[in-house]
Amino acid sequence: LTGYVGFANLPNQVHRKSVRKGFQFTAMVVGESGLGKSTLVNTLFNTTLYPPRDPIPPSAERPQTVAIQSISADIEENGVRLRLTVVDTPGFGDFVNNDDSWKPILEDIESRFDAYLEQENRINRQKTVDNRVHACLYFIQPTGHSLKQIDIEFMRRLHQKVNLIPIIAKADTLTDEEVHSFKQRVLSDIHFHNIQIFQAPVYENEDEETLGEHEEIASKIPFAVVGSNQEVVTPDGRAVRGRAYPWGVIEVDNEEHCDFVKLRQMLVRTYMEELRERTDQVLYENWRTEKLVSLGV
Ligand code: GDP
Ligand code: MG
Repeated sequence: LTGYVGFANLPNQVHRKSVRKGFQFTAMVVGESGLGKSTLVNTLFNTTLYPPRDPIPPSAERPQTVAIQSISADIEENGVRLRLTVVDTPGFGDFVNNDDSWKPILEDIESRFDAYLEQENRINRQKTVDNRVHACLYFIQPTGHSLKQIDIEFMRRLHQKVNLIPIIAKADTLTDEEVHSFKQRVLSDIHFHNIQIFQAPVYENEDEETLGEHEEIASKIPFAVVGSNQEVVTPDGRAVRGRAYPWGVIEVDNEEHCDFVKLRQMLVRTYMEELRERTDQVLYENWRTEKLVSLGV
């Protein structure tokens, strides 16, 4: 299963549409330093982007308080090409005063909307490049308590601009029971603050297998993830990507151990089209309308 993405198996109609438009998907990672963002990106790239073809090295696009860096790779599956870009945001939450940490990230997301709008407005519309952020993975510190002010502020500021997918970082530092109760707590905080995270839709009239896949993904949010690019050996002798502890090995790609596989599946298979569609038809569209109103058009 490792290395297998699944986007080539999207339903035919969706598939044809995506191939025609050119497959472009951009995910952003945000969260305080040390929560494992870079590690998770590498973990995602090692599997879903394997083998990474002509990767573009990380480039600093905006030398500001919070840096915005993106890395892309083209992957191919059954003759279908996907350009996956991951935008990293080192520096978030690293300052003495983090009240405005969300600002450069919001600006980056909106400047991508602007660039898209500019293309739409061109009289001679060539092939459009969609650099809009389709999903934002927000890393939550595995405290086991509640969300922090910086988390709430970020999500409140961004939830109408990007598909928010909350993630519990370094889930291997919590027990299964702690993960379970922390997830409940995070969800109730999100609800309490009227934050709208990406809702994985579950369609009634799907076949049982698809329905099951959708329900299972929805039930895992916020995904409790473990990242690692180290190969470790399990007590029964298997070489796996994971983290070794005196009491055993946590396997990244084992669904019994963490939600990494489900997160990847959501992004590049099950909900890629929904994430792109909601970005285009709801988030971008609302932003565009507001902008036109503010310009008095
Ligand atoms: P970033 O600052 O958010 O990009 O975090 P990094 O990816 O640089 O990781 C910070 C440290 O946490 C490194 O020492 C990683 O090896 C470690 N780390 C990353 N992911 C995990 C994880 O899932 N579990 C544990 N226990 N440590 C992790
Ligand atoms: Mg990093």
